[in-house]
Amino acid sequence: MKVLVLNCGSSSAKYQLIETSLEAIEKNADREIGRGLVERIGTGSAVHTFQAQGRERVTDTGEILEHREALAHILRMLTHPEHGVIKSPAEIDAVGHRVVHGGEKFTQSALATPEAIRAVEECIGLAPLHNPPNLRGYEAARRVMPDVPQVLVFDTAYHQTMPPHAFLYGLPYVLYTRHAIRRYGFHGTSHRFVGWRSQELLGRPRSETRLVTCHLGNGASACAIDHGRSVDTSMGFTPLEGLLMGTRTGDLDPAVVFHVMHQEELSEQQVNTLLNKHSGLYGISGVSNDMRELLAEEAKGHERAHLAIEMFCYRLRKYIAAYAGAMGGVDAVLFTGGIGENSPSIRARSLAGLEFMGIHVDAARNDAAMRREARITTDASPVAAFVIPTNEELIIARDTVRLVTGTPQV
Ligand code: ADP
Repeated sequence: MKVLVLNCGSSSAKYQLIETSLEAIEKNADREIGRGLVERIGTGSAVHTFQAQGRERVTDTGEILEHREALAHILRMLTHPEHGVIKSPAEIDAVGHRVVHGGEKFTQSALATPEAIRAVEECIGLAPLHNPPNLRGYEAARRVMPDVPQVLVFDTAYHQTMPPHAFLYGLPYVLYTRHAIRRYGFHGTSHRFVGWRSQELLGRPRSETRLVTCHLGNGASACAIDHGRSVDTSMGFTPLEGLLMGTRTGDLDPAVVFHVMHQEELSEQQVNTLLNKHSGLYGISGVSNDMRELLAEEAKGHERAHLAIEMFCYRLRKYIAAYAGAMGGVDAVLFTGGIGENSPSIRARSLAGLEFMGIHVDAARNDAAMRREARITTDASPVAAFVIPTNEELIIARDTVRLVTGTPQV
């Protein structure tokens, strides 16, 4: 089957066309046919880049005012006589959508039935910036490809196995029952993917292991996967909680918010921007939210770049140890995301001091592990650590195949 995976943001549509089937999933033999990105949707100068597997990247610009036009553009690119990869849109068998928030309603991916779409709409209050563009992507696909089945894959669903003692805040319980205030967690598709891949690397099924997965990108989160189930994760009601991120604070005493609002005379909107866009690595360093740049500045002696990196690694180390405690032990720590896959230094610094837990990094292995699956601990290390490049699109394509063929999800 050819599955179009769509990830729509407010002004963007990221996509991949993936060839997969139940048999290919079984053999881990599914393959990407091409991928692209439409940016600046809503303007007269939208940019569409597309790369077919093994070919040069092509770029097209033009007026794309909304997601339906973007999807029509994508289909034209995929079927383009010169750059395209399929002859006709009819070759697309199904569409899988990334949806950020499924609230408590979705514990798994789901077929996009009218009831499911209503339920996603009901979650808009929980993710007012993300669910609406995700829904616009669905609506565009429904109109442009009315006969093609569509599937919804949620960032939050994987964490729905968290127990109440992990997902509740220490607030009056009535706020949970009345307003669904609780921790949901995000990056679920990524945590699930690397947990699944770890089975082959560890030679043991997920149902027999305790894992701490670290998705370290611009947004970052850690997850405790106990015998195949997410039992805790560092992001909360929103992605603001937990690890220090590119521009987000991560964990913060909420009293600071009121104090700063008062002292700096900030509005609700301004303080929201402060916490989400001006904080984290960027806020501390005053230089950049980009880890590569910070490492380069640190090497030149920039003190606050150094401090920001130290804070990032220190907080991650605390979470890894905390999750080992939460699960009564850990068998492997997994690194993924732009930073986790590419930065030996951040991995080594985050794991430094965890030798007491049985984590012994092999410096040469760690230095050599870039953007590929690799063990970064010594053979004798009682707890293993691995780099596993994430592939959220693959999980979305696979869930789509399973749902469309009525096969249970794993
Ligand atoms: P997003 O969360 O936006 O998807 P990514 O997962 O692509 O982001 O991660 C982006 C982060 O990865 C940036 O901070 C970038 O600097 C970092 N990164 C990418 N390559 C490297 C590298 N070689 N060393 C350190 N950090 C890197």
